[in-house]
Amino acid sequence: MNAPTNVAALAPTVKLLIGGKFVESKTTEWRDVVNPATQEVLARVPFATDEEIEAAVAAAKEAFKTWKKTAIGARARIFLKYQQLIRENMGELVALLTAEQGKTLPDAEGDVFRGLEVVEHAASIGNLQLGELANNVAGGVDTYTLLQPLGVCAGITPFNFPAMIPLWMFPMAIATGNTFVLKPSEQDPMVTMRLVELALEAGIPPGVLNVIHGGERAVNAICDHKDIKAVSFVGSTKVGTHVYNRATLAGKRAQCMMGAKNHAIILPDANKEQTLNAIAGASFGAAGQRCMALPVVVLVGEAQKWIPELVAKAKTLKVSGGTEKGTDVGPLVSCAALARVEGLIERGIADGATLELDGRKPKVPGYEKGNFVGPTIFSNVKPGMAIYDQEIFGPVLSLVPAKDIDEAIEFINANPNGNGTAIFTQSGAAARKFQEEIDVGQVGINVPIPVPVPLFSFTGSRASKLGDLGPYGKQVIMFYTQTKTVTARWFDDSTTSQGVNTTISL
Ligand code: NAD
Repeated sequence: MNAPTNVAALAPTVKLLIGGKFVESKTTEWRDVVNPATQEVLARVPFATDEEIEAAVAAAKEAFKTWKKTAIGARARIFLKYQQLIRENMGELVALLTAEQGKTLPDAEGDVFRGLEVVEHAASIGNLQLGELANNVAGGVDTYTLLQPLGVCAGITPFNFPAMIPLWMFPMAIATGNTFVLKPSEQDPMVTMRLVELALEAGIPPGVLNVIHGGERAVNAICDHKDIKAVSFVGSTKVGTHVYNRATLAGKRAQCMMGAKNHAIILPDANKEQTLNAIAGASFGAAGQRCMALPVVVLVGEAQKWIPELVAKAKTLKVSGGTEKGTDVGPLVSCAALARVEGLIERGIADGATLELDGRKPKVPGYEKGNFVGPTIFSNVKPGMAIYDQEIFGPVLSLVPAKDIDEAIEFINANPNGNGTAIFTQSGAAARKFQEEIDVGQVGINVPIPVPVPLFSFTGSRASKLGDLGPYGKQVIMFYTQTKTVTARWFDDSTTSQGVNTTISL
């Protein structure tokens, strides 16, 4: 999927950003950026050469020498301006995002907005990057900590949130005093590049933010480079595990937010209308291409009778191009993704799951070439079936029965992934039991997609994450800084000399 193609088309080229300049790559490897609703080629993205990757890291290393000394207030003010520029350019950003990624315009606005919230947080960096001080840890001695930037940091991002996820990374890294090399998804780099242009317009100095494009080779170069101190990755479990192993072996900090298979539990006392709306939105929204989507629902007891109503609701969703008014489900990102999702639906049937709603090959007038799959629902899904064991990343919902909440919790905890989960119930006691016993990092109570706001951090767990600290929020301050602990004593003329002391003490 990531192999570059030789493209002769005259589509505009996506630029690299090196040392404050947008430059044309000298590479011979290019890939098309394609509108997934129409197959129109929007641009060509280069796979940067080794020299270009080296130049981007060198520019970031050089810029760090001065950027690390920049006053907190000066750093913060850039992000105040940046958030304003993102707001002013929201329409253009959203249109670009929908064109290259496929999601609906309102959903694209949500993508930009959830990133904008991190930029707002970066603008208050002075309140966040605070050390600690203990007065008089010994006579006349104070101990305090400095949270100092690491140096050059790097980010590698996936296709499904091309605005939000880059904005999880470089604003916080740069606000804390680091410089940055970003490697966006090669599938939809255009909105990311527009956000990068706005960041420069907001005042980020040359070399502080750099962008390279590419796939496996660029990612491996980032993992191996001796001058890169930390790597933040978001993407699939296979690639994230590789990045974590390779980057940490090279002595870097790494945080990898990876694949998911999120389950919801519906208890029979849940508010039926609200719950079915939430499930349909979270399972089929963004064509199921969210790491916090809900592709598995465990129906407890009498809630198993709700399947016909859920199917009826799913049938009302409009499948069309993301720019069409009223669209609920846009196209999958690529032809390869379409073939994969259709193949998994076939395997679900072959494996013996009950196909309650078949969304394959929907009629989408005006978008006959688009990568569409409509809402698809299977019941009687079991572990061991490919549709359960694999992350489908399409609008395919699997329903599983359970006799009670204990059985449902046990079922979810047996799944290796731990990104997100949700319970739907009117019982506070059941919700609290779920919150305590479920082994998943992000829990929703009558909230289908519990992505934390930046006052907190994204906290996927188990197979969905490698590394201890999450992206954005409080945890990422620790990820992007090194704690230095200073123990200090100052003598004045009245301090009596104690002579030479050869024991360990202060
Ligand atoms: P991906 O792993 O294919 O790509 C992610 C990044 O890795 C891209 O920049 C890509 O260029 C690079 N890459 C791809 N193949 C590589 C290889 N062989 N070696 C080195 N680098 C490689 O992921 P994707 O398809 O873009 O995104 C979807 C995945 O991301 C899903 O699994 C989804 O669950 C996950 N995701 C997770 C989170 C989270 O926070 N946990 C958020 C969004 C997406």
